[in-house]
Amino acid sequence: MSDDGEMYGDSSEMPTQKLNSLRITDLDDDDDEDGDVVPQAPVDILEDDDDDEDDDYEDQEPVSLGFLEKPKNSWSVRRELFPSIAGGTPAWLDPVNFPSGTSCLCDFCGQPLQFLLQVYAPLSQKESTFHRTLFVFMCTSMSCLLKDQHDQWKRRPEKASRSVKVFRCQLPRLNSFYSSEPPRNNGSDKPSTAGAVLCSWCGTWRGDKTCGDCRKVRYCSEKHQTAHWRSGHKVECRQPFLAPVTPESTSNAVSSDTQKVASKNIWPQFEIVHEDESEAENSEHEGFNKSLVSPSRVDESVKSLLETFEVGGDKKSWATFQERISRDPEQVLRYYRSVRSKPLWPLSSGQPSRMDIPRCNYCNGTRACEFQILPQLLFYFGVENNPDSLDWATIAVYTCEASCDESTVYKEEFAWVQLASQSTTVR
Ligand SMILES: [Zn+2]
Ligand SMILES: [Zn+2]
Ligand SMILES: [Zn+2]
Ligand SMILES: [Zn+2]
Repeated sequence: MSDDGEMYGDSSEMPTQKLNSLRITDLDDDDDEDGDVVPQAPVDILEDDDDDEDDDYEDQEPVSLGFLEKPKNSWSVRRELFPSIAGGTPAWLDPVNFPSGTSCLCDFCGQPLQFLLQVYAPLSQKESTFHRTLFVFMCTSMSCLLKDQHDQWKRRPEKASRSVKVFRCQLPRLNSFYSSEPPRNNGSDKPSTAGAVLCSWCGTWRGDKTCGDCRKVRYCSEKHQTAHWRSGHKVECRQPFLAPVTPESTSNAVSSDTQKVASKNIWPQFEIVHEDESEAENSEHEGFNKSLVSPSRVDESVKSLLETFEVGGDKKSWATFQERISRDPEQVLRYYRSVRSKPLWPLSSGQPSRMDIPRCNYCNGTRACEFQILPQLLFYFGVENNPDSLDWATIAVYTCEASCDESTVYKEEFAWVQLASQSTTVR
């Protein structure tokens, strides 16, 4: 066996895993709310380390970009391969103890949240983070996201209701769910144990409830039972040959090349592949043609967004954002490998201050921006560009800098959402 950083770190088959060796975390930083961020050794730049919210600051930090690809194989998105994926159903890292109860619900409308994406981002500094995945869920209702906009500003002890939720799960190398050997990536990998039975409708959350008539399909919620009943289970339920639910028959594991998810509304599934950000605009990016969307189409959608901004500050901010994004216009995710990085904000209005990012719920440590999600994702998901359609300018995900181990298996982290319509709505 080679050392673990290499094992999981250098396979071109699993490009996301290079995040492992690149992320620079600072476990010792115990700074206060307004304290300066102390430069850490591995960062090869010199700079004035002031409190200035300067845009150039972020420019110098290394960024990995996430792009979408259709999954190469049906098995490549299974949980035993530790994938980074967008859309479809999550590949739960701990497939048994995942979030339940109100954690799975939109705090505004009560609907179970939809899976947006997950990023596999192990940290080599600690044994407990040998495997580490961040999961992002959101309510698909734009009116809930508008309410979320107001609540994300709430500070403790006020309780913020959210329609976007992030969970962090981590496992040591020796665990009961997976082999301690790296996956072979040839379709033969198997998890060590079966996961919990999932909802037949969304394939996302635990299926704790059973259809009272056929006793064969499982649901996470009454809402999904009703949705399934209306969309055809009413007929199906009476058919005696309906296959019984076996553990994981509805999930993305062992025996399920074709995942059975009844809902037609979940987003199409993609793999997220990572590349380092190009150095400058128009740099050579030959041979990197992984997207299904031509750059010109992306440009058009971005241009139409630009037209919606009338306010000067936001217009300037958007231009800077757009310039940076245009280096790699198909990116859907920006992953920050240094805890000192700041997100690239599309708008000058509606940015959080340090005080707006709550401390870790579990260890009370500081949180840093780990990645941000770009609206290009919605384009890949085929979300319509109507006034009431789901839309955002960016979603920045903040995680515990220490990636702590306390408390529950799936720890809730924090998302900050900037809406494209922010410049026209007064907060
Ligand atoms: Zn909602
Ligand atoms: Zn469900
Ligand atoms: Zn039934
Ligand atoms: Zn923590």
